Amino acid sequence: YLFGKKRATDVAHMVWKHIVQKGDTVIDATCGNGFDTLAMLNLVADDSHKGCVYALDIQKDALDKTSLLLEESLDSNEKQLVKLFNICHSKMEEVVPTNAPVRLVAFNLGYLPGGDKEIITRSETTLLALEAAKRIIIPGGLVSIVVYVGHPGGREELETVETFASRMSVENWICCKLQMLNRPSSPIPIFFFRR
Ligand code: SAM
Repeated sequence: YLFGKKRATDVAHMVWKHIVQKGDTVIDATCGNGFDTLAMLNLVADDSHKGCVYALDIQKDALDKTSLLLEESLDSNEKQLVKLFNICHSKMEEVVPTNAPVRLVAFNLGYLPGGDKEIITRSETTLLALEAAKRIIIPGGLVSIVVYVGHPGGREELETVETFASRMSVENWICCKLQMLNRPSSPIPIFFFRR
């Protein structure tokens, strides 16, 4: 199911489909323009209006864009299943209830496409956010990370994610990486950590 997809985010969405269930709680740690948030909502929303997407971004502009996309794409019941927060993803545990069974935490690192290219995810806070994601994900859940390397700091952030992955306990986690080998200057690696 992976090979029909050209964009890294589409590949990530395909993998999410095999893990996330209707009624689940999931976190979009970098909601940006809202495309990942919308894809997640479509996976968790069910007829009884359970399911919840926590969508986080450090940039107010991104939350406005996500809000607009949701406004255009969802009915009012579905919209209520998305909770938007203008905070750093390293603080996800401050907004997601401690008893919430979180099955997916997704990161799409880098800058906001069409936005301010100076506002990027940074290794230090990405690392704290990955640690938080690791703490709150339920057994059977997934941490998904799409990494861009073309911008300043991108390669360093990739190294941070790789080092983090290589130190995860082999008893509790399966950590893997998908990478487009025929795009050497922008391989867009995708990491999946399955608990
Ligand atoms: N997932 C988005 C979508 O579907 O459109 C694209 C995300 S974009 C590549 C990366 C986003 O991460 C930007 O909107 C940026 O503002 C956000 N970001 C940067 N640092 C952050 C942080 N510490 N916490 C949360 N979001 C952050």
